[in-house]
Amino acid sequence: MENCIFCKIVNGEIPSTKIYEDDKVLAFKDINPIAPIHILVIPKKHYESIIHIPDNEMDIISDIHKVINKIAKDMNFEQSGFRIVNNCGKDAGQEVKHIHYHIIGGKTLNWP
Ligand code: IMP
Repeated sequence: MENCIFCKIVNGEIPSTKIYEDDKVLAFKDINPIAPIHILVIPKKHYESIIHIPDNEMDIISDIHKVINKIAKDMNFEQSGFRIVNNCGKDAGQEVKHIHYHIIGGKTLNWP
C-alpha cells in the first residue's frame, strides 16, 4: 500500500534488520526498542488491523503466531517469558496502520 512504512519495509524501499522472512510473514527489529529484545512481526500483505482482515484470510494470524513461536524459542524465552502486543486502532495508540505484533522481552516487564 502506498505511503505505508511497513509495506515499504516489505518491498525493501526502507531498510530493516530482518529476523525472519517467508512468503507471507516478515519479522524485523523495532527501530525504537523498549526492551533488550523488541521485534515486530507483520504480514507482508497490507491489513490495517485485525478488524480489516476478512474471515477467509484469517489464517494469516495463525501464520504470524507460528513465527512468534519460532522466534520466542530462538530467543530462549521458554523459561523467562516475554510479551506479545498488538495495538489496534486509536485508543490503543496504534501508530503504524499495518497490523503488527510486538515481541518484547529480555527483562522483567511492568503491566499495564
Ligand atoms: P504501534 O504503536 O503499535 O503502532 O507501534 C509501531 C512501532 O513501529 C513502534 O514501536 C516504532 O518504534 C516502530 N517503527 C516505526 N517505524 C519503524 C521502522 O522504520 N523500522 C522499525 N520499526 C519501526
